[in-house]
Amino acid sequence: MHSPSRQKAVFRFAPSPNGFLHLGHALSALTNQKMAQEQGGRLLLRIEDIDQTRCRAEFEDEIFRDLAWLGLEFESPVRRQSQHVADYQEALSRLEALGLIYPAFLTRGEVKARLAAGEASGKPWPRDPDGAPLYPPDDRLRPASQRAHLLKNGLRHTLRLDMQKALSLVKEPLTFQETGDGEKGEITADPSVWGDVVLSRSDAPSSYHLSVVVDDALQGVTHVVRGLDLFHATSVHRLLQQLLDLPVPVYHHHRLVLGADGRKLSKSQGSTGIAALRAADHSPADIRHLLGF
Ligand code: GLU
Repeated sequence: MHSPSRQKAVFRFAPSPNGFLHLGHALSALTNQKMAQEQGGRLLLRIEDIDQTRCRAEFEDEIFRDLAWLGLEFESPVRRQSQHVADYQEALSRLEALGLIYPAFLTRGEVKARLAAGEASGKPWPRDPDGAPLYPPDDRLRPASQRAHLLKNGLRHTLRLDMQKALSLVKEPLTFQETGDGEKGEITADPSVWGDVVLSRSDAPSSYHLSVVVDDALQGVTHVVRGLDLFHATSVHRLLQQLLDLPVPVYHHHRLVLGADGRKLSKSQGSTGIAALRAADHSPADIRHLLGF
């Protein structure tokens, strides 16, 4: 009897070249490598450089150097988000056709003022899981004629997802399989806590959320392995996958590497940077050992 061939698992490490890699990135890359090896899967590298205002070529060069030094090998060609803007535009147009996108014009200052006014009434303004205040409803409620007028005048804006409307189109509970270091099993996604997320800006044609789900689908990624700091973002990713009819990978959010101050490492933390550790004569084996491999 002919048995259907089992599809190979596909893993990816997806750094953003907006800073140098640190131990947290090494943990992500090495966990991806280990899981890919264990499952006989493929290992891809994706350069998440869609936000060209923050990404720099020298950071990308250093990422390649650090990963090679750590002994990580990836398939080529490497996908670079900045070379695939049309893919994200297409996804955005589909969401637009569903009536789920609106132009958001409020400046940072205006948002701040709305928050202050809202909180003056005694109730705290709702915040997303990263602690950022949710976007006020002003632009979503703006009459069509006013919206058209502002657009005609070329007013700077972002494109946001109308979260409530998007959720109204989803008929079944959104869930995902999680195998990482935090909550495990079938997780119920709760995208509403993020409010009307940004999907596109004038200086970055696609947001992280949109490009990551489009790329994972286009690259056939079956396992998303990344830090626990992105656990809650998965709720937004599940919603976008549902709206765009994309397959759902298995998720594995691993523990974070914390600095001496007990906080998440940042890209500017020199001493835990891979390049700095290399310069200080640590070996790739030291790094693996330090991270528990
Ligand atoms: N590019 C993201 C970062 O560097 C990771 C995205 C992901 O793994 O989904 O934080």
